[in-house]
Amino acid sequence: DVAPPTAPDAWVNAPGATSARAHASHKGSFGDVAVLGGTAGMAGAALLAASAALHAGAGRVYLGLLDATQAGLALAFQPELMVKPLAQWDLGTMAIVAGCGGGAEIAAHLPQLIQHARQLVLDADALNALAAQPAWIGLVASRQPGSTVLTPHPLEAARLLDTTTAAVQADRLASAQVLANRFGCTVVLKGSGSVIAAPGQIPRINPTGNACLATAGTGDVLAGLVGSLMAQGHSGWKAACLGVYRHGQAADHWQQPHTLTAAALAKYI
Ligand code: AMP
Ligand code: MG
Repeated sequence: DVAPPTAPDAWVNAPGATSARAHASHKGSFGDVAVLGGTAGMAGAALLAASAALHAGAGRVYLGLLDATQAGLALAFQPELMVKPLAQWDLGTMAIVAGCGGGAEIAAHLPQLIQHARQLVLDADALNALAAQPAWIGLVASRQPGSTVLTPHPLEAARLLDTTTAAVQADRLASAQVLANRFGCTVVLKGSGSVIAAPGQIPRINPTGNACLATAGTGDVLAGLVGSLMAQGHSGWKAACLGVYRHGQAADHWQQPHTLTAAALAKYI
């Protein structure tokens, strides 16, 4: 049994998600996001997540590049970002988005992030690292309820479940729910009809989105968007439902089919 999608309008007035910001607000009112990823050749993935977090309304966005030589490129693309290493982040006050273009290097940082990040979105190589370290499942599951989101595509979900992509796709609802229960957090199983699942919730199937999204970097944009919504006060569950909905809706409203790029999507959200 799957509940009909909740009207996103019901969430428009949630903290930080509203277009009507308090007049006396300032950038500190809308949350801090920090993105960790971008090994050699993959800086763009982390940059897309960070750019999406900014465009989705976060007050401040930090970018930690695992290939620090790409800092200049990042700032040329998005000068609003603060390119700073993980060591300079205040994990306890931030929504951390980890794994976009993270390569094998992301694994070394995960225990620290899992134990200390106020809110946490794990994507891409962070999920692959998690799949290789079953001992970390308990660390994720012991985080504060509502503070964690995993955003696997079907292959990443298969690695986390130690099964095949075909088996994941054969029962997407069950796959997402098993992962959500095992990790004690919200899981977005991406792909056409993304499934959002969390412990104790009826899983949702997202009705928006189309094959315009089948292009490199759109998953990184989603991770940044969800992290941004968490930084602005949404629970992981609502940030995932709302973020996935808006991400797909942006693609549905895109006027020229098959011309959408992830950077354009980040701006368009
Ligand atoms: P990733 O696989 O990490 O690059 O993420 C791709 C993103 O695009 C996810 O949010 C998917 O749900 C979305 N996406 C890709 N292809 C489609 C499709 N055919 N229909 C709807 N959403 C899609
Ligand atoms: Mg991806």
